[in-house]
Amino acid sequence: MKDLAPLLQQRRAEHRYRQRRLLDGPQQPEQIIDGRPVLAFCSNDYLGLASHPAVIAAFKAGADRYGVGAGAAHLVNGHTRAHHQLEEALAAFTGRDRALLFSTGYMANLGVAQALLHRGDRVLQDRLNHASLIDAARISEARLQRYRHADPDDLARLLDRDPERETLVSTDGVFSMDGDVAPLPALADLCARAGAWFMVDDAHGLGVLGATGAGTLEHQGLDQARVPILMGTLGKGLGTAGAFVAGGEDLIETLIQAARTYVYTTAMPAAVATATLAALQVVRTEPERREHLRMLVRQFRAGATELGLTLMDSDTPIQPLLVGDAAAAMALSEGLLARGLLVPAIRPPTVPAGTARLRVTLSAAHTPAHVDRLLEGLRALCVSPASGMG
Ligand code: PMP
Repeated sequence: MKDLAPLLQQRRAEHRYRQRRLLDGPQQPEQIIDGRPVLAFCSNDYLGLASHPAVIAAFKAGADRYGVGAGAAHLVNGHTRAHHQLEEALAAFTGRDRALLFSTGYMANLGVAQALLHRGDRVLQDRLNHASLIDAARISEARLQRYRHADPDDLARLLDRDPERETLVSTDGVFSMDGDVAPLPALADLCARAGAWFMVDDAHGLGVLGATGAGTLEHQGLDQARVPILMGTLGKGLGTAGAFVAGGEDLIETLIQAARTYVYTTAMPAAVATATLAALQVVRTEPERREHLRMLVRQFRAGATELGLTLMDSDTPIQPLLVGDAAAAMALSEGLLARGLLVPAIRPPTVPAGTARLRVTLSAAHTPAHVDRLLEGLRALCVSPASGMG
């Protein structure tokens, strides 16, 4: 049996040791973490729906009606009317024939690749795709090749190399650690020309981007038909939990038959489905949340630029500040925490070596005064030579 302690020790020495914090209370900007009040800039609850009264009420009503646990997989007897209604609502929201619920986005990504691909096929992915897409490629046994970040020319080069091979091209819509948006129209054109499947993981775009919150495709004016496979998560912009894949009839039926992460797992609680239906309603009826969020993004970027900080090329609520060195990023994150500001340092291997950063995320639940407090904290720390920034 391997001794695990030296490996943990090594992680510590490399400033890669991950630690959890204890949250008491709901997901909202002002939180109690490890027993003390902090202002958090790290949640993916971009619209503030995780603690929206209508969403909470729908969750409670769902539990009253359906009980708590689903009790079984969708294909046994865990698929309630609430799940079914949510699938129909998500299909309509994303302009697709059908949608299929998964318990998490991680599982949805694994399920798609495993159901569609086999040994001898290939997966082409953006180099900065989320870990779950990379793991999806691995589990499918298809050959994984990665193209340069957001670079259609590099994808074209790979597609040309082996045109006969069954191919799935997948990309994040919004890149989770950089906040930039994939060039979807150019990627979709290349896939259509090459006869490849094209899949977008819109975990960070859904509910947030586009005039109606339909996500990155809407933001870029891309017709739904040009992206045959759309994956969206419910635990971020929609404030609940779980995920879905949306697409054509045959795709969804294939996933129901063959995606092991769909077939062999318990359905999400029905109350999550009723809560998500309420969240979708808020997305539709309160567009001012997206407008407020865009305003906060502009405020933060203007303030950070004034401080001379290194922003990344993002106009989404993910606004990383590039630090470079992992230890310096950690020190900055700890310095902010000492001032009551929670902003995580993201370090290798989650991001490439030398690109450690603070991952600031903004939410419609933040106020302009919250953003000012963050900028004040950064100002105080960035004059310190130990910070490595400014
Ligand atoms: N895709 C992306 C781009 C993500 O950022 C995440 C979550 N961080 C996932 C998929 C996984 O989604 P879930 O949390 O629902 O498993």
